[in-house]
Amino acid sequence: MRKNFINQQKRKIKNINQIVRKNILNLTPYQSARLLYKNNINNKILLNANESPIISLFSTNNKILNRYPEQQPKKLLNVYSKYINLNNENILITRGADEGIDIIMRTFCDPEYDKILFCPPTYDMYRVTANILNIKYLIIFSIKDTWEINFKKIKRNLKNIKIIYFCNPNNPTGNILNKNNIIELLKLTKNKIMIVIDEAYIEFCIDQTMISLINKYENLIILRTLSKAFGLAGLRCGFILANQYIINILLKVIAPYPISIPVLDIAIQALNIKNLIIMNNNVKTIINNKKWLIDKLSNCNCIKKIFTSTTNFVLIKFHNSDIVLDILNKNNIIVRNQNHEKTLNNCLRITIGTFDECKKLFFTLQKIS
Ligand SMILES: *Cc1c(COP(=O)(O)O)cnc(C)c1O
Repeated sequence: MRKNFINQQKRKIKNINQIVRKNILNLTPYQSARLLYKNNINNKILLNANESPIISLFSTNNKILNRYPEQQPKKLLNVYSKYINLNNENILITRGADEGIDIIMRTFCDPEYDKILFCPPTYDMYRVTANILNIKYLIIFSIKDTWEINFKKIKRNLKNIKIIYFCNPNNPTGNILNKNNIIELLKLTKNKIMIVIDEAYIEFCIDQTMISLINKYENLIILRTLSKAFGLAGLRCGFILANQYIINILLKVIAPYPISIPVLDIAIQALNIKNLIIMNNNVKTIINNKKWLIDKLSNCNCIKKIFTSTTNFVLIKFHNSDIVLDILNKNNIIVRNQNHEKTLNNCLRITIGTFDECKKLFFTLQKIS
């Protein structure tokens, strides 16, 4: 009976597979930190998703939810535009930066002809989104260990490219892009290719933002989020910044009501003057914790190299990362393995936590050494 039932189920699944798009059947989905560690995260030190370790408590009094929100709520546009010093017309509010990556691809790429380009090791959602949308991609690896973008090679390979995604500062390597190279590329690709700069971590090195270029280069798009420095990964709120003309085109593609009223309410609070000061102080705290940790770790024998980081995480190359990962796990410290990426063998990406968490991490790594 039972066996028959299982076989029947298998047959059914097989039949459904016939109508699923092939690229979805073959897709390796994004391996999110929350997916990899979904069990009892309560007693664990979570240094695997570049979240903020600092909790800000918010509540919403907005209980009236019978009406749809505005497509682009003006109040949130007002406060964010003040924060970044651009006009409301330069901003599109999204459900996190991840939705921004998707909307831009759907707006500019025809799966039949167009390709995107990105430079691993980098954020994996550029690849995953392209695969979901059946858009081809060209990979141009960054130069190993310095993680500099190979601009020379990019310039020679622009045929059929519609979008180039850069992550600045880059996840998982933590380095920053050269602004002059970006400007040169923006000029070269004018009216042909969109350059997207993912600034998810820019608050940790805010002087490096390319926001001032938005009204100079119409093929520049910048992505922002409240998930990292603002400590609101659970809120799901991000922003696309571009010139007005681009924003108006993207408005055709985004959902009619992307931002729920409770999200809107909390995002507005997070951007008030008082909370911006708190955010900036939290950024300073994290940067100080990072300095302390890197200084302490520089004497650990199990470490081969600590890569320079301008972010809230640090990429570390170990002599044997499997052993380190295992011991950290046993001590309830969860970090992100990067071993799957061939240029990052024996590397782990470690989010900077509270001072207490940094101390625990250091003592554990010291014991291994
Ligand atoms: C975390 C992260 C994102 C996702 O941001 P959300 O706003 O949470 O969707 C986007 N880009 C990079 C580089 C990230 O590290």
